[in-house]
Amino acid sequence: MALVNENYLKLPGSYLFSEIARRVNQFKKDNPAADIIRLGIGDVTQPLSPAVVEAMKNAVEEMGRQETFRGYGPEQGYEFLIEKIIENDFKPLKVELSVDEVFISDGAKSDTANFQELFGINNKLAVSDPVYPVYVDSNVMSGRTGTINTTGQFENIVYLPCIEENGMKPPLPGTKVDMIYLCFPNNPTGMTLSKEELKKWVDYARENRSVILFDAAYEAYIQEEGVPHSIFEIEGAREVAVEFRSFSKTAGFTGTRCAYTIVPKEVKVYDSNGKAYSLNNLWLRRQTTKFNGVSYPVQAAAAAVFSKEGKKQVKQLVKYYMENAGIIRAGLQSAGYKVFGGINAPYIWLKTPNNMKSWDFFDKLMQEANVVGTPGAGFGASGEGYFRLTAFGTRENTERAVERIKNRM
Ligand SMILES: *Cc1c(COP(=O)(O)O)cnc(C)c1O
Repeated sequence: MALVNENYLKLPGSYLFSEIARRVNQFKKDNPAADIIRLGIGDVTQPLSPAVVEAMKNAVEEMGRQETFRGYGPEQGYEFLIEKIIENDFKPLKVELSVDEVFISDGAKSDTANFQELFGINNKLAVSDPVYPVYVDSNVMSGRTGTINTTGQFENIVYLPCIEENGMKPPLPGTKVDMIYLCFPNNPTGMTLSKEELKKWVDYARENRSVILFDAAYEAYIQEEGVPHSIFEIEGAREVAVEFRSFSKTAGFTGTRCAYTIVPKEVKVYDSNGKAYSLNNLWLRRQTTKFNGVSYPVQAAAAAVFSKEGKKQVKQLVKYYMENAGIIRAGLQSAGYKVFGGINAPYIWLKTPNNMKSWDFFDKLMQEANVVGTPGAGFGASGEGYFRLTAFGTRENTERAVERIKNRM
């Protein structure tokens, strides 16, 4: 008899987006004429840049010719891409990385979900609340947590509330934790940490021999000076941090799939005798066993993001979305809403008026303005009373949505 991995049974159904879909479908059935604008799901809408498309086409042509055909590539990724990443994304920050500290993958979602398997099952983990659900669910699946309680929180996870009183910045845990998930610029709140604030986390991790799993998927959206783009800008971070990055939001690769993870050689985990092991070696071992690399045309396309033309074009994409973010922010503020984020991230996190519940606000926004967003409660207990709008829509839809919120709500 095949037994089930009972850890999977601890997970609630994928409640958030299926519940949104259910409510939207019901509303459409009852109001077939309604013109719904979706500013909910975190997916991009603008096409790939011409430089990227050109590079991918050329790579496909190469694959179709005997002289230039390629089979399996290196599991860790092609050096032509890794070198460009180091040169363009880290050198300007004065962060030195070697080629074997960068691992190309098919997504930051899979990397952030998979990375936990390098850690002992008894490690204690901390996450921000609200949180990108992947960090939590992947640890539940592997058995690192207990069961879920009535507020939707799992036993054996330390939730760090990000609320107005602390400026939406996670407080250091009161107890000792071993694995810390941080995401900045943050999804869903759109907030960032300063270098000083991030330094506190690096110091904590060094004191406690913990590891920080730092998700920088939205790094390209940072507009303000002085906001760290990489955790490795912080002194000592090479000893305690891993960083996840992606071309998804940076260059519109959500459907193309390419990301990369930085694992410095100094980051260590320990056995029960206190003997240290390099996470870099372990991740290499894991990837070479369970992953066969990203396709050549996709890596060639990703490398084109760093060409002269590619850089310019990708910057335009980010600018387009950040102008949307500005439109949403300004529109909501002038309508009297309290808003967070949207300055260094494509997410606007708004406080619902009159302490309305997130899901009640969802219904009201859908019914009165025909705009769909994401209820904050879906990202964790501390998200209750908040609501997320994304800047990833088209300009036209963004402007129309804001006008409707101003006029009809
Ligand atoms: C979109 C997103 C990613 C990127 O995931 P990919 O698998 O690379 O598309 C990673 N982390 C967060 C928090 C995200 O919102």
